Formats: sequence, C-alpha cells, structure tokens
Amino acid sequence: MHEFSDDELLAYADERLDAVRCTSIEKLLRSDFSTVERLTRLLSGRDHGEHSVGELWRRGRLSCPPRAVWAAFVDGRLGDGMSQYLKFHLETVGCRVCSANFEDLQHEDSSTDSERRTRKIFQSSAGKLHRGSDEKSH
Ligand SMILES: [Zn+2]
Repeated sequence: MHEFSDDELLAYADERLDAVRCTSIEKLLRSDFSTVERLTRLLSGRDHGEHSVGELWRRGRLSCPPRAVWAAFVDGRLGDGMSQYLKFHLETVGCRVCSANFEDLQHEDSSTDSERRTRKIFQSSAGKLHRGSDEKSH
C-alpha cells in the first residue's frame, strides 16, 4: 500500500511539494523504511541519481536509519536501494552515530567468527614462537 505516488516522492525530493504533503512524507520516511528504499531507488533511476540522494542527505531531510535496519544490513537482508542508502549514510555522510552502531552490530553478528579467528591467530603465532627458537627466518 503506497500512500504517495512515485511522482509525489520525487516532487518531495525536488522540493516541489506543498508544505503539508512534504511534512507527511518526511514523517513517513522516518517511520517507514520501505518508503526510503523506494525513494532511493527512484532517485538512483534518474540521471545524477546518486547526487540527488546525496543532496537530500546533506540537507538533512532523511534521518538516521534505526538500529534494526542496520542489523538487517549487517545480515545482508536489505535490498540494493536500501543498502546503497546505508552505505551512502556511512561513507559519504560519515554519520558517527550510525557508524558506531554498525561496528557494534558487526561485532555482535560475527562474534563466533572472530572468536575462531582469534584462536587461529593465537595458534599460528604460538607456532611461530616455537619455531623461532630453533630456526632464524632471515
Ligand atoms: Zn546516522
């Protein structure tokens, strides 16, 4: 169910929309991330799409994605439009709050992997130390 048409969303991005509908779209973008994804896809489908998404961010029109959305991103459960939007938020906008969230979630998500990695590193360096005692590497 789409409350707004594609044209209305694009008109919002171009600031061609009246204040009342503009406010409702902003409200919707804060609560409904499928709409954000839709808008991102619409904008990237145009010429200079990325630039348009960037403009929106710079103007502070789109708010930070909630933690649940970042969790979905870490798990790879998001579509291309949304992933692009999040990458943009992280890399181009450089939002510190979200980047902290993102790193936190990545750590949480891969705790088993990183434990395994730590063990591997420990084992290999232990092996090196052992070998180092009776042979020189250089
Ligand atoms: Zn953010």
